[in-house]
Amino acid sequence: MKVRFWGVRGSIGSPVRGHSIREKVRRILLCASPGDVLDDDSVDRYLSTLPFSLLHTYGGNTTCLEVRSQHDDLVIVDAGTGIRDLGNRLMSEGFARGQGYATMVFTHTHWDHIQGLPFFGPFYIPGNEFDIHAVSDDIEGRLRYQHSDRHFPVPFDGMQSVKSFTQHAVDDVWELHGMRISHKAMRHPGNSYSYRFEEDGRVLIFGSDAEFKLEDMDDIGTYLDYFRNADVLIFDTQYTFEEQLQKIDWGHSSASIATDIALKAGVKKLVLFHHDPSYDDEKLDEVHLRALRYKEMMDIAGRTDLEIVMAYEGLEIEI
Ligand SMILES: [Zn+2]
Ligand SMILES: [Zn+2]
Repeated sequence: MKVRFWGVRGSIGSPVRGHSIREKVRRILLCASPGDVLDDDSVDRYLSTLPFSLLHTYGGNTTCLEVRSQHDDLVIVDAGTGIRDLGNRLMSEGFARGQGYATMVFTHTHWDHIQGLPFFGPFYIPGNEFDIHAVSDDIEGRLRYQHSDRHFPVPFDGMQSVKSFTQHAVDDVWELHGMRISHKAMRHPGNSYSYRFEEDGRVLIFGSDAEFKLEDMDDIGTYLDYFRNADVLIFDTQYTFEEQLQKIDWGHSSASIATDIALKAGVKKLVLFHHDPSYDDEKLDEVHLRALRYKEMMDIAGRTDLEIVMAYEGLEIEI
């Protein structure tokens, strides 16, 4: 399996602002010594030493993931604003000619997970086919509602691709393109559902949006069973630990809680996801560093090889 991230923000889209770019350029120039800017090679060498936040951006689009089976079958997870760019890429792969086919799965229908759908080009092309799966009840009605003319000028049926809907029970386990898919309800206002993809013994879990509090940690056995031995766990880490204490019942977790869960469940790679829209790239670097330090603190005997990475737009992970 492979997963590519097209949207990694929580709550609302959050583009990079001009003053952030100016600040990045300013810091890059201030850090440079004369030897770093002698020629193309020295500049490239210098740039390769800089932290992620100075050279890149984690991205401002909301949740959308592209999962590919080992035979390249496409599963799209959620339709936040990141799906617009995914749609543009798919248009070069047969979807522009109305010959595309994809499965879509929805974790839930908070707006940051569906808001990109009206801007998903392949949905408008007759002939393209989409099988839409969800555990949330009445997924078809929920998506249609977003296209009421109170919210958007084009009605749902104005997007002329063929769409079919499958409603799953919470305990359903189903097969798709050789992948075994199961789900679990997460603690989140209005409910959201995590998806677990298994293929040839490899496990990818998408677990956003999900709130786990410190006081819950002794009572999460069924969750640990579900997360157990995942090769990759993508988890909701919207807040810092301090902010999570202030935003109780808002439905999101912190990187330290996610690290605790990953350590307890024997996860191999934890991907920090659903970044808060108020966090700039520099703050997200800090979130990552603090998570790495926290892991070292909690795993003092070095018994685990847990890897912790930040989700960013364009990140691809082979599982
Ligand atoms: Zn969300
Ligand atoms: Zn949500």
